[in-house]
Amino acid sequence: MINIVLFGKPGAGKGTQAEFLKTKYNLTHLSTGDIFRYNIKGNTDLGKLAKTFMDKGELVPDEVTIKMLESECNNNPDSSGFLFDGFPRTISQAEALDAFLESKNDTITATVALEADDEILVKRLLERGKTSGRPDDQDEEKIRNRYQEYNEKTAPLMDYYKGQNKFQSVNGIGSIAEITERLSMVINSLK
Ligand code: AMP
Repeated sequence: MINIVLFGKPGAGKGTQAEFLKTKYNLTHLSTGDIFRYNIKGNTDLGKLAKTFMDKGELVPDEVTIKMLESECNNNPDSSGFLFDGFPRTISQAEALDAFLESKNDTITATVALEADDEILVKRLLERGKTSGRPDDQDEEKIRNRYQEYNEKTAPLMDYYKGQNKFQSVNGIGSIAEITERLSMVINSLK
């Protein structure tokens, strides 16, 4: 069983790469952003709550996010490994994930970051916003707020995983295929 955390700033390409990697390595792809958007579409209580934060480019509170993620993992008891995309985003989430996996005699195998320059990413997100329909991709102020949330709350996770010897990074600029190849090299080295 391998459990990978795909790490990177908004727009770094986590979702795109996860689509390829989940098939290649037979992993269950869990994107907390996608799960929130699914709930917003379905107008569930969780969706209504998440929307109030997402629309401002803020993180959804830890308690809600952690509970949701754990229940998604529990819904996939036969999984041969998880690919976490957009989770964890805070130290509390990372600690909760470690404790949750440990309770199942499991662990994070590695965290792999997609590295890219902020200015390139902001342009990429605004471009994506033209077709994605995502309100948080269409407004530069919201995008900047997401980066601020990332720098304050998510960036410290790099040291958290480095402290566990579980942090690696790849250059996130290039063609989709090139980046998949870089990520695959890291994942292959874990097996
Ligand atoms: P993403 O699709 O990963 O870019 O996430 C879109 C938005 O969903 C984020 O800006 C947050 O508002 C929310 N979100 C997704 N994942 C998390 C998480 N792990 N913790 C808190 N909020 C999250």
